[in-house]
Amino acid sequence: MAALEIHNVCKDFGSERVLKDVSISIDSGEFLILVGPSGCGKSTLMNAIAGLEPVTSGNIYIDGDDVTWRTPADRDIAMVFQSYALYPSMTVRQNISFGLEMRKVPKPEREAAVERVADLLQITHLLERKPSQLSGGQRQRVAMGRALAREPKVYLFDEPLSNLDAKLRVDMRTEIKKLHQRLGTTIVYVTHDQVEAMTLADCIAVMRDGQILQLGSPDEVYNNPVDMFVAGFMGSPS
Ligand code: ADP
Ligand code: MG
Repeated sequence: MAALEIHNVCKDFGSERVLKDVSISIDSGEFLILVGPSGCGKSTLMNAIAGLEPVTSGNIYIDGDDVTWRTPADRDIAMVFQSYALYPSMTVRQNISFGLEMRKVPKPEREAAVERVADLLQITHLLERKPSQLSGGQRQRVAMGRALAREPKVYLFDEPLSNLDAKLRVDMRTEIKKLHQRLGTTIVYVTHDQVEAMTLADCIAVMRDGQILQLGSPDEVYNNPVDMFVAGFMGSPS
């Protein structure tokens, strides 16, 4: 059974169709990278999977359950998005712990999870600060920590490393890859960084204008692009 199945999803904003019959099936433990030019609908698709935007038609299944009309909290997912909204009145520690508290995880386990992700993301020294006392890159790491503290069925990452400096981005990429190998989690990850796509993905989906043009292994998409657009986008040899 697929860990995540997106079935004929369409999404309209007013009269504009932004997702056009998108279907993707992701096996448990698979790392799917979603790439495509700015404005092609990547974030809209992620928001639909997360339940932040209702779809116009189609269905979304997680572990075989139809979650199309469930709230984000009822979908066993954790997400890190571009607009990493942290709770401003809470400390970093409370921000990371909050999702676990909501799910009634006992305090010792919550504390252990906070220590684990703080160590992983090198934010231990920031745990007692408020979001307003952090840089953009630090906030992004806290948002990442909040997602990683949980162990949901599916992680959604929408350009999570885009605000980090080059060195940290490479470190974080390595950490995400290790985490994926260690936990075997299912991940959908949006990036416009081709190197990131080729190094992280089991599977790459190339999107253009609300449609999936090609879905395949990095090797397939790179070496056997379905058209000139995919070839150009992936930098395939001609
Ligand atoms: P991407 O993440 O690939 O850059 P988006 O999913 O953010 O693209 O946007 C896809 C299209 O949908 C764009 O044309 C964008 O302007 C439009 N769009 C996104 N969100 C909204 C919204 N809330 N209301 C109206 N149009 C939107
Ligand atoms: Mg986007």
